[in-house]
Amino acid sequence: MRLILFDIDGTLIRSHGAGRLALQQALEELFGSAGPIDNYRMGGKIDFQIISDLLSAMNISQQEIEKKLPEVYAKMAEKGSKIFWEKQITPCSGVESLLPKLRQADNVILGLLTGNSSLTAPLKLNAAGINPEQFRVCAYGSDGKNRNELPFVAYKRAELLTGGKVDGKNTVIIGDTPADIICAKAGQATSVAVASGWHSSNTLQQYQPNHLLENLTNTEHVLEVLLG
Ligand SMILES: [Mg+2]
Repeated sequence: MRLILFDIDGTLIRSHGAGRLALQQALEELFGSAGPIDNYRMGGKIDFQIISDLLSAMNISQQEIEKKLPEVYAKMAEKGSKIFWEKQITPCSGVESLLPKLRQADNVILGLLTGNSSLTAPLKLNAAGINPEQFRVCAYGSDGKNRNELPFVAYKRAELLTGGKVDGKNTVIIGDTPADIICAKAGQATSVAVASGWHSSNTLQQYQPNHLLENLTNTEHVLEVLLG
C-alpha cells in the first residue's frame, strides 16, 4: 500500500488570495480586526498557527484563542463558501489528468496533508472542480499545532482505514513549500516538492526533497515519481 498525501494551496490548486481574504473577513467579523495579516507570510503554515499568530499579535491570550478556534474555522468556511467561488480557484496544471490515474493505480490511497482546516479544505477543492471525496485519508490544519504533527495524524487515520501498519516508509508527501519538505522528513516519508506555488525550484532544492518537480503537467513522469 502506498499513501500519497497532497498539500492543497500551490500544489493542487491556485487560490488567488481567496484563503487569505476568507481569514481576514472572518477575523474582522469576530474580533474587529485581522491584526497584522497584510504583512504575514502564510506559505506552508497551518491554519492553527496562522490564526494563533495573528490573534496573539492583537494581545489575545492563547487560552482565549484556543477557545475561539472552532468559531474562527466555522466563520472562515462561511466566508470561504462565497469567496472561493468568486475568486475563481483553479486546479494547478496537470492535476486534472494526474488524479484519475492515481485513483486507478493499484494499492494507492489518496490523501491530503494541508494547512487548511477540515471545513475549508473541501470547499476550496470543490471550487476548483476537484472532488474532495477522492482523498480518503486527510490531515488538516485544524488537526495539530504545526505541520510536522500532521503526518502522524494521517498515518493513524490510514491505519484505521486499512487495518494495516502505516508509517513514512509507505507514504509520499507532496507540496510546494519548504515546510512541506520539512514535514515529510519529520514523518520519515518520501518528500516530493513541486515548484508550482510561491517557491522556485532553486529554493526548494536547498531543503533536499527526495524528488523535485517543476509542476505536475508531465503525468507519466509524475506517476513514476509518486509510484516508483
Ligand atoms: Mg502549499
